[in-house]
Amino acid sequence: MLTATCHCGAVKVTVPRKPRTITDCNCTICTKYGVLWAYYKESMVQFEASAATTDEYSWGRKAQRFVRCANCGCIMYWRRLAPHPQNNMGVNARTFDPEVLRKLRIVQLDGAAF
Ligand SMILES: [Zn+2]
Repeated sequence: MLTATCHCGAVKVTVPRKPRTITDCNCTICTKYGVLWAYYKESMVQFEASAATTDEYSWGRKAQRFVRCANCGCIMYWRRLAPHPQNNMGVNARTFDPEVLRKLRIVQLDGAAF
């Protein structure tokens, strides 16, 4: 088990294991957020936050929503807004313990090309 937390601690996301790799995507939003993604099946992830402690953002085709802490502003994860065959989601690996993050292999994703 591994828990990602925002800066103020209001939002916690617990995943079953360390990711094998983390993804550095070069699309317009990921570069501005400065995030690294760890992918999981949504059913494997536990969320600890009330609706009042998160805000979200969707853009373009609105296929995903990006969720952040309403208090400290850290981007925590994205979830799909419509069913998808992969049924996956992304947790911002930068909100894991820095020691965990340091040892993970980063994969570059050319999201800007999609
Ligand atoms: Zn926070």
